[in-house]
Amino acid sequence: MKKILVINSGSSSLKFQLFATDGNEYKVIIKGLAERIGIDGSNISYQKEGEKKQVETIPLDNHKTTLKAILDILLKGSLKSIDELWAIGHRLGHGGEYFDKSVVIDDEVMEKIYETKDLLPLHGNAFVYGIEAMKSLLPNIKQVATFDSAFHQTMPKEAFLYALPLEQYEKYRIRRYGFHGTSHYYVSNELRKIMPSAEKIISCHLGSGSSITAIKNGKSIDTSFGFAASCGVTMGTRCGDIDAYIPLYIMQTQNKTADEVNQMMNKESGLWALSGGYSDTRDIEKMYNEGNEQAITTINIYVHNVIKYIGAYTAEMGGVDAIIFTAGIGENSSFLRQKICERLKFMGVEIDEEKNKLRSQFVELSTPASKVKVYMIPTNEELVIAQDTYKLCA
Ligand code: ADP
Repeated sequence: MKKILVINSGSSSLKFQLFATDGNEYKVIIKGLAERIGIDGSNISYQKEGEKKQVETIPLDNHKTTLKAILDILLKGSLKSIDELWAIGHRLGHGGEYFDKSVVIDDEVMEKIYETKDLLPLHGNAFVYGIEAMKSLLPNIKQVATFDSAFHQTMPKEAFLYALPLEQYEKYRIRRYGFHGTSHYYVSNELRKIMPSAEKIISCHLGSGSSITAIKNGKSIDTSFGFAASCGVTMGTRCGDIDAYIPLYIMQTQNKTADEVNQMMNKESGLWALSGGYSDTRDIEKMYNEGNEQAITTINIYVHNVIKYIGAYTAEMGGVDAIIFTAGIGENSSFLRQKICERLKFMGVEIDEEKNKLRSQFVELSTPASKVKVYMIPTNEELVIAQDTYKLCA
């Protein structure tokens, strides 16, 4: 069995999972989350297979100390020695136009990663910190990068090019890239295994960050995230689609800086702003059921946005065979799935109310009579990263 560590590095948090695999079966031995890196009160919580969750309060000054602390945790029973660690897989936000699949990280790849990280001004550095720290701690272990944008590199020009002066694309690389690609790939691929006839799939990754993707014959042909991960459907605290002129107008008339508007659009908007301070759909659903007007409007806007994309992508693909719900909301909110599917009745979507009460499992939600199949499929981005890492390092 080979042991593969998967790392998902954020600016102040870092998720990890250790897999054991023979290339066919992938077993999670331990997984965890380091929080508040570089901030007072940092800690690492982790759970070994079949055991209770544990939390260690520990100073985590930077990504290197964090990964060092994680390796120490792995050495407490999950790894006999560091030599047992076979390879490391990293999740990266952006591969630009360089990467349409996962790659082994060498000097040339690292150069391109440094170049593309600037396309993500807020998060780009965080992904790189994880790789840099691991390379300095374990220089002889193979490392692989899996890119959130890679799956969407198959989008045709009409889907990825913005109608801006061409120089903005050719010189400054401004185009639609799309994200959540590993998740959209995983769930659509899982569905195609049991439904090979599904040529036209719409994958709805609805979580605190959300995106919807049109997948034709296994390839992403359009997606609701664009140059950045702030457009598309309404999200927990991100605004989703707005008129491109609005940020400029706010800056010009309210004397706000680009950073302030960025903060507003990404952290102070979305469901949180509409509902009056709630970004979790569980709270908003409760208020909706109590008849709270603001919550009703929030839910209506959310559903409106999601069905708008499903409608658009159905038109783009000339039909749809299956719709997939995944991620925090997609896997857990029967309420929102039902509200969305209700609006899709016109295209023959019919879901089974009892099955729709289920949570977080691979299940068909549609009735046998439904013209479009509807599935809930739990996403597993870490598994894809572990699988790619195995394939590239074996
Ligand atoms: P992230 O984008 O951070 O990965 P997730 O995919 O984990 O987000 O989604 C988190 C969101 O999922 C929560 O903010 C909440 O809105 C929603 N959610 C999680 N559990 C439930 C539940 N039981 N019922 C309804 N919504 C849920």
